[in-house]
Amino acid sequence: MTRPSKALIDLAALRSNYLTARNLHGGRALAVVKANAYGHGAVPCAQALADIADGFAVAFAAEAFELREAGITKPILVLEGCFDPDELVAAYKANLWVVIHQESQLRALETAPIDAHSMRVWLKVDSGMHRAGFALEAVQGAYERLEACPSVASITLMTHFARADEPDSDATAKQIAAFHEATAGLPGDRSLSNSGAVLAWPTARGTWARPGILLYGADPLPVKPQISTNGEQQPNPPYQLTPVMSLVSEIFAIRTLAPGEALGYGGTFVATTPVRVGLVAIGYADGYPRVTPTGTPIAVGGVVTRTIGRVSMDMLTVDLTDLPQASIGSPVECWGKQIDVNQVAQQAGTIAYELLCNVKRVPKVYQN
Ligand SMILES: *Cc1c(COP(=O)(O)O)cnc(C)c1O
Repeated sequence: MTRPSKALIDLAALRSNYLTARNLHGGRALAVVKANAYGHGAVPCAQALADIADGFAVAFAAEAFELREAGITKPILVLEGCFDPDELVAAYKANLWVVIHQESQLRALETAPIDAHSMRVWLKVDSGMHRAGFALEAVQGAYERLEACPSVASITLMTHFARADEPDSDATAKQIAAFHEATAGLPGDRSLSNSGAVLAWPTARGTWARPGILLYGADPLPVKPQISTNGEQQPNPPYQLTPVMSLVSEIFAIRTLAPGEALGYGGTFVATTPVRVGLVAIGYADGYPRVTPTGTPIAVGGVVTRTIGRVSMDMLTVDLTDLPQASIGSPVECWGKQIDVNQVAQQAGTIAYELLCNVKRVPKVYQN
């Protein structure tokens, strides 16, 4: 028998989540597949989306070259743009769309040995995140220089939100207003919305959405009950996302702790009553976060129980005391359709993005 741990990737769910994101936003949507599609495998995910997606977005050019080599012909936007003039020429040869967010990239474009009207560029406006992008007062000037640049075929105006996943903050409304003011009168497509904005900020709609985490079925918004007009609590959210990744394994050993016995590294969990412990063949070397405490939800044989003790490199331990039917070979889901990855992320003091990106060592198994 081989180690039973794997990341199951549900490609039908990926496609359905993409269509949900595009329908919610309207217009067109670039599927964000940077960071190896948030740990799901960039090439298989892009291939699964290729016939329905309007295009893709990645962080840097090498991620786009990988998709081109795998036969992806749809538009690919490079969100960080190019790092130097040579990379810009390579991006041009691979027919990529590039973000221009700072002066050095603008200069590289102005002097690059590339054909006239060949580059589709996205001009990034810093509307308030203060990370990358042209300052509001520099936008019109940068736009004029792009317009004067012979190689430029079209200019899309974009911005990125710092707090779109906080529906109660007014930061996003301020960014939207600042973006529109700085770009007033400039022709071209607009792109504002990441996943959080697609879900929570209809006023951010533009020509192009850029959903990432949403595609993978992890909701970036805090879950809150909504009160409907007749006073009943509605299940939130009103949209349907399906988790794409299920990180699964099996119980491979079982033992019972006597009262007073401590479990695992550090002896952090001490039994006070007899505790039936299941060993699961997955650990932090596979990307399961070591910092999750005793009590983190995990499903065994379809029933939710809890982790106990420290997560080790290659295994972790779960409480089977109330699961007498659990035995060696019982299926375990760390996160996926039964356990929301957001719950595990919260226990680890991080976000679903980081957990998904960190999955490694386990084989990925694709399901259509
Ligand atoms: C990563 C990224 C996105 C996607 O963000 P999600 O929160 O995963 O939807 C969109 N736009 C830019 C510029 C990004 O860097």
